[in-house]
Amino acid sequence: MSNVTITEYQGIETSTWCPGCGDFPILKCIKDALVQLNIAPHQVIMTSGIGCGSKLPHYMRVNAYNSVHGRSLPVAMGIKLANHDFTVIAVTGDGDGYGIGGNHFIHTCRRNPQIVHIAENNQVYGLTKGQYSPTSDYGYVTTTSPEGTIEVAINPIALAITTGATFVARTSSGDPKHMTQVIAKAIQHKGYALIDVLQPCVTFNKKNTYAWYKERVYKLDDEKGYDPHDRKAAWARAQEWGDRIPIGVIYQEVGRPTYEDQVTVLKQGPLVKQGFNIGRIKDDIELLKEEFV
Ligand code: SF4
Ligand code: MG
Repeated sequence: MSNVTITEYQGIETSTWCPGCGDFPILKCIKDALVQLNIAPHQVIMTSGIGCGSKLPHYMRVNAYNSVHGRSLPVAMGIKLANHDFTVIAVTGDGDGYGIGGNHFIHTCRRNPQIVHIAENNQVYGLTKGQYSPTSDYGYVTTTSPEGTIEVAINPIALAITTGATFVARTSSGDPKHMTQVIAKAIQHKGYALIDVLQPCVTFNKKNTYAWYKERVYKLDDEKGYDPHDRKAAWARAQEWGDRIPIGVIYQEVGRPTYEDQVTVLKQGPLVKQGFNIGRIKDDIELLKEEFV
């Protein structure tokens, strides 16, 4: 039974999102998942970068750090290492997380820190008024691609699986119940958890709309015999895009140690609670002086 209530997560800032934006359900579902898991606001820290979706932590009553473009994940990683008792949730957009922050995305997958990464994937740069993004479909027409994009889209699901992510999921802003379930599973996963959210930008993406996704998405939970622990099966589902788009937990590896589990100094507890041993630092400086000066 949860003691935490949704009102505890109620922020005081007024949203600047467009009416109908797919970010609204994401905001609601993050709160619902945290309440379901009885996690209080002081136990959570969120990070973000730049973009419409990166304003999300502004609209919650929660610890938050709004970093620069593409840097939500490395900031989340630093926070996790400083205090691994926190539930750390990094939000990014598709341009922010897979483009400008693409390098960080790959290496966070490899390292497996216990961070939930919610990628609000609307296949466009929304905040800057509709340029094509790394996940825009090939041929997608925008102001910066008037004849259609000539770059193939990044497949974040396949990229995450192949670079070592231990939890890879997709959900949709059109199905909040499903999204809440997936976020709750991701928070409980021991390791890095990517959730790619199909998040319509109602103002600048007139192609990938709620209706477009609704026609195509199907739930892996309804697929008899589908096992997200089977990497080969997950890889096959990761290739599906277009007429059929799977949502749910696509891949999960259980048992791999997290990054923070393997850092020796963190075995003594969160770094922020270990105190500051000035005597030891002085000894170390003397040793360095002996060796190098
Ligand atoms: Fe949402 Fe698009 Fe408006 Fe940004 S521009 S708030 S992504 S609908
Ligand atoms: Mg975007």
